[in-house]
Amino acid sequence: MDLTDPSGLLFIVADGMGGHLGGREASQMAVHHIAERFYAASLRHPAEKLRRAFLAANAAIYARADADPTLQGMGTTATALLLRGRHGWIGHVGDSRAYRITEEGIEQLTQDHSQVEEMVRRNLLTREQAAIHPQRNVLNRALGARAEMEVDVIPRLPLQPDQRYLLCSDGLAEVPLDDVRDAVLAHPPQRACDRLVQLANAHGGHDNVTVLVIQINQLPGRGRRLLQSLKRIRRG
Ligand code: CA
Ligand code: CA
Repeated sequence: MDLTDPSGLLFIVADGMGGHLGGREASQMAVHHIAERFYAASLRHPAEKLRRAFLAANAAIYARADADPTLQGMGTTATALLLRGRHGWIGHVGDSRAYRITEEGIEQLTQDHSQVEEMVRRNLLTREQAAIHPQRNVLNRALGARAEMEVDVIPRLPLQPDQRYLLCSDGLAEVPLDDVRDAVLAHPPQRACDRLVQLANAHGGHDNVTVLVIQINQLPGRGRRLLQSLKRIRRG
């Protein structure tokens, strides 16, 4: 894949909620509408393009849920990574996550829009308590849940060769971060994804898990190859 594409490359993870039917519909709509709106927009600024693409997806999912009683209450997380030239941008709503992983360590770039995360910020819960809290699935922001929604956009992350980016649903949340980092650094992206899914299973989650690993090989100007990989499993 080519980082010199003028619009950039967009990677998205979406994790639906609101029953089996609604959850799947919402997450599929999110991926479809975000990508379509993003690539159709003639705006020049990636951050604004991402934000508007998320808002358009939110409106579409909200309208669909409103029109069909069997889909009422559906919503979805969405975490998107845009790579263009020498920079990355992130758009984010919900409790899926984006991580940056290098030999130096692993860093969570996004903030969970969940009630437990809010409680951690207010020192009412520790991170460890939050990870196993019975209410940890309750989101305070999701695509399609309300007519109005705010989008987190992280602009212009400097890309470096050998960086890895991980997008994942909350099915990976119970795996210790050191194990996540080691798995991503030890393998090429597809094998790393397989390994992360194994780890998620081993840590006994009852949730689906979606993981996407993107490895920056070389930047434009010094060659331009990019690896990515996707793995999804469904359990329970
Ligand atoms: Ca969840
Ligand atoms: Ca989930």
